[in-house]
Amino acid sequence: FIGGRRGDVRIAGGMLAALTFCTFESISLLNLGPRFTPSWYAAHVLALLPSAALLAGQLQIYVVSVRAEQAARAEADRVAERLRAGFELAVEMATQVDMEPLIRRLLEGARTLGKAERASLVRIEDGMLVLETGLDSGGLAAPTGFRNSFDSAVSDGVPIILEAIRRRRAVISGPYTVAGLPAEHQESLRGLRHTLSLPLVLRGEVIAVIMLGRRTDPPFTEEDSDRLRELTVISALLLRNARLLDSAQEASAAKSRFLNMAAHELRTPLSVISGYIDMLMSGTFGDLDHRQEPTLRILSDKSGELASHVERLLVASRLDAGTSSPVAREVDLREIAADAVHRVEPRAALIGGRLEFKVPEEPVVVAADPADIGLVLDNLLNNALTYSQPPPKVTLSLTRSGELRVADHGIGISPEQQERVFEQFHRVENPDFGYPPGTGLGLYISRRLAERNGGSLVLEKSVPDAGSTFLLTLGESHKGG
Ligand code: ADP
Repeated sequence: FIGGRRGDVRIAGGMLAALTFCTFESISLLNLGPRFTPSWYAAHVLALLPSAALLAGQLQIYVVSVRAEQAARAEADRVAERLRAGFELAVEMATQVDMEPLIRRLLEGARTLGKAERASLVRIEDGMLVLETGLDSGGLAAPTGFRNSFDSAVSDGVPIILEAIRRRRAVISGPYTVAGLPAEHQESLRGLRHTLSLPLVLRGEVIAVIMLGRRTDPPFTEEDSDRLRELTVISALLLRNARLLDSAQEASAAKSRFLNMAAHELRTPLSVISGYIDMLMSGTFGDLDHRQEPTLRILSDKSGELASHVERLLVASRLDAGTSSPVAREVDLREIAADAVHRVEPRAALIGGRLEFKVPEEPVVVAADPADIGLVLDNLLNNALTYSQPPPKVTLSLTRSGELRVADHGIGISPEQQERVFEQFHRVENPDFGYPPGTGLGLYISRRLAERNGGSLVLEKSVPDAGSTFLLTLGESHKGG
């Protein structure tokens, strides 16, 4: 028993002592003489000693377990502190979506947590090591964008980075040099005595390496790299997300540039075509015979339709690029609504539709760009006519608090499509109703226009086959003008 549990404090401090005392007592009991003699007393005192020894053993167990608990708590506190520091930094970094500030914050955080003087981020791109950026307390940051191939990195004496990439874990090492760096940067690198390379790994692939450097002792330890572990895990994710966002924004900007260019290029020939059609119809090139006129009318309608599509593309691309801004002034919404109804009346009459118009007696004045609001109402009224079974019945109403509603009894929009109709180029598939000409840009543009005038545009209510109500609310309005 003793041999098997050698070193156990319970044996040393309690059991062993208890056994010893028991032995003494047994021996003294063997020799027990008459009562109240010294040996009689000794035997009784000895009988208490095993219990006392066991108690001492228990106390020792208690002391040891308290100490172990304290040590575990201290370790847990240290880990929690490490996690908290990493987490706080990660949360702070997560609010950054732009690449440059994100990397700067990451390097600042890594430098502080790693108690380092220099921190740089090396990106891995097409078999090259690219120095993303660097921070140095000595004031001399590394040259951003410096490239180094993997092969030359080996011969350069920077296999530290390569080793971190290969092992996919932190590598602690000494000074290093990079061939090809300008002399002053070589000098600042040479001053580093200790280096810690931290690979940022995402799904088993190293996407970048953080290099930390100290100019003075102590060297980096495993504890330093542990402290930075959470930071590297989260940084890898954030960097990947920032990069994805970068490329998505670039793709979106390219799409906007293309739309803008295409719309501009289409507009000029289109206006020439429309001009000639008008001249032909007005008889500038001679009288028309009865067979030519219907054809020319169709041409005129279609070129008008095309021109309005092109115009929408232009408005959308200008809104995306932010190259146009509203010219706000105090306007009476009743007038803007009346003008919109007036513009749509001929079309409504042509298809036998009925337009209802309800406005309050007194002016409803808001600060907004009348052209923007007019365009939103044009879109809503035309949609209400387009997406209704003939003959359409459409109501435009204005409340005293400046809420404009366009309601129809048309085909309606299913619940799952009700928010999607405001997306760019989104059109609802409806084979039963057919596909009227359109671009899927009208509601997208309308919502953006409402928002840039401090208002909002929502689909207030829509029931398939029963109709829809769109609600346009504009900013502060004051009754009475
Ligand atoms: P477009 O009318 O050019 O397709 P919009 O952005 O104006 O583009 O509308 C997007 C889609 O929303 C339309 O294609 C149509 O399916 C649906 N929609 C818009 N207004 C209505 C409406 N009043 N009733 C039913 N569906 C509508």
